[in-house]
Amino acid sequence: MADGKLIVFSAPSGSGKTTIVQFLLAQEELKLDFSISATSREPRGNEVNGKDYYFLSLREFKDKIKNDEFLEWEEVYRDNFYGTLKSEVNRIWAEGKNVIFDIDVVGGLDIKQIYPEKTLAVFVKPPSIEELKIRLKKRKTESDDKINMRVAKASIELATAPQFDHIIVNNNLNIALEEAYALVSDFMGAEKKSVK
Ligand code: 5GP
Repeated sequence: MADGKLIVFSAPSGSGKTTIVQFLLAQEELKLDFSISATSREPRGNEVNGKDYYFLSLREFKDKIKNDEFLEWEEVYRDNFYGTLKSEVNRIWAEGKNVIFDIDVVGGLDIKQIYPEKTLAVFVKPPSIEELKIRLKKRKTESDDKINMRVAKASIELATAPQFDHIIVNNNLNIALEEAYALVSDFMGAEKKSVK
């Protein structure tokens, strides 16, 4: 669809944004499809290539940067590149769907800047940095070093929240899900009206 929309959910790692994005994807009337990012990091646990990410070697990732294949890309952590392929957005629009992104704050704001009218950019805030640390520890997918790296980054990311269209504070997951649903469906509705 030529006028497909872009829904960006950005947040510090561990804020619960992935749960929110998964919930929204299950709501068929929103016609959302997930933008699978490319990354040069190693797959974790049971992550699947082409489903969770397109896992590329550092070399492959850099070649795609050179060939201008990314809408946005970033070195989120040292030697860990992440990016949105232009082909991915086009794939979803061609299916007649809207694109939903689960990406970091810089990438999210880049997309908002590239497509200001088509994009709804939502920031998901953890209740506190302390709570974020507890959630990351519970997840048990990263070493203490990596957790500390993510917590340090979170403080910087929180400062960008006012640049987003909306902020959801994830204190209570059910309320956060309701808020997210309302924001996305309102945005779709408003956009439909403006097309006429
Ligand atoms: P993780 O390694 O935990 O899957 O992701 C690390 C960070 O990279 C998260 O904040 C995630 O949202 C971000 N990220 C994932 N995909 C992209 C992308 O396509 N572009 C950008 N800029 N960040 C991404």
